[in-house]
Amino acid sequence: MELYKTNQLKIYNSLSKSKEVFTPLVEGKVGMYVCGPTVYSDVHLGNVRTFMSFDMVFRYLKHLGYKVRYVRNITDAGHLENDADEGEDRISKKARLEQIEPMEVVQRYTVDFHNTLQKINNLPPSIEPTATGHIVEQIEIIKDILNKGLAYEVNGSVYFDVLKYNETAHYGVLSGRNIEDSIHNTRELDGQSEKKNPQDFALWKKADERHIMRWPSPWSEGFPGWHLECSAMSTKYLGETFDIHGGGMDLKFPHHECEIAQSKVKNGVNPVRYWMHANMLILNGQKMAKSTGNYILPNEIFSGDNTILSKPFTPSATRFFMLQAHYRSILDFSSKALEASEKGYIKLMEAVNNINTIEVSNESSIDIHSWKEKCYAAMNDDFNTPVLIAHLFEAVKYINLLLTKKETISSEDLQHFKTTLNAFVFDVLGLKNDLSDDDSDKLSSVVELLIAMRKEARENKNWALSDKIRDKLLEIGIQLKDGKEGTTFSIN
Ligand SMILES: [Zn+2]
Repeated sequence: MELYKTNQLKIYNSLSKSKEVFTPLVEGKVGMYVCGPTVYSDVHLGNVRTFMSFDMVFRYLKHLGYKVRYVRNITDAGHLENDADEGEDRISKKARLEQIEPMEVVQRYTVDFHNTLQKINNLPPSIEPTATGHIVEQIEIIKDILNKGLAYEVNGSVYFDVLKYNETAHYGVLSGRNIEDSIHNTRELDGQSEKKNPQDFALWKKADERHIMRWPSPWSEGFPGWHLECSAMSTKYLGETFDIHGGGMDLKFPHHECEIAQSKVKNGVNPVRYWMHANMLILNGQKMAKSTGNYILPNEIFSGDNTILSKPFTPSATRFFMLQAHYRSILDFSSKALEASEKGYIKLMEAVNNINTIEVSNESSIDIHSWKEKCYAAMNDDFNTPVLIAHLFEAVKYINLLLTKKETISSEDLQHFKTTLNAFVFDVLGLKNDLSDDDSDKLSSVVELLIAMRKEARENKNWALSDKIRDKLLEIGIQLKDGKEGTTFSIN
């Protein structure tokens, strides 16, 4: 029987601002959409934390036995420099500055994004659609919104009429903002803008001469507004209403608010049942962001190539560090905190290795079943990874007591213990075992093989080959010692 049938998962819904029991639209299936990166620069650790949080959600849903369709887009056009629909397209700007094609920018940073997420052991999404691959769908949505009278065209650009929408719906339902407040608090338009009201947002922008990325449309040669792609792609791949929509906290407004408004006008229904937002990573007391220069790149952590780090840290230790905070909590980044996490990670992996050497007894003196229930309870409580990790350290304690024979465990319970521990550590948290002795086992076998070949060479009085094996091994730091009991080796 699938685990979801016996586990009641609760998710904090940003829309209702409360934890709700998760019931998918279709039993056994989950549709999940997460806003992906704008591929115009290297992905920094703050972005990685957001994507890793949803990877953990994806992994746990799969662990519970759900068939998950996870869609995460690539923004390769339409994302302007600021939220007021002004400024240059971020990718076009980078392409202009570096004198390369926009699609070269897109390719370079998409590859970097995939490499980085793979290092941190994120699973790939089920579908990864691009904004430029869905221009036709976006134009169709704009036509529909225009027909319904909730958008207007000015000089070849099309804007969503927020005030008109707000007459029958609540623009601000997710972010808790009130349109009346924003009317009072917004500066008067400077006369340069084509918008009727500053709250309106672009669905289509006419491209000026310097804008490289442009497509034909009924209104002008131009490009779609940034918010529109997510409405187009989520509807196309997950339907008019789907289960989970995730993204970074900073996308709540205006991006997600605009997505709700567009989709609601187009399809007549609320698009998302559970809105999830991951919190930010803080460095030097401030939000990590490319625009302010206050950020650290994942590769700098793995290589130790940054002055704020005391040493390099592996992707696994970095992932473990991020999972030790709840995805809705702010996480403070520092070399010291990372060092502490690394120690914990090593302790956990040692225990995962040592569990294989535990000897079984007839009876168990520890209660594995209630420990397992606590692990599930933590994850069912809005994916509470820090509490789960606390229970995993409880398991470390059990393992050490079992190794020193202060506690006992039956063979059946031990099997159960191993399966559960491995499932949470590797499948759900997505950690890798850097301490796995798989490779050193293989190395030992190779050296033993060479020792045997050398012995054979000596027996055949082939001293030249025998010496060559010894000397070449020494060159790579492996020393052979001949003794009465045969040949042994040490690795320097
Ligand atoms: Zn989005």
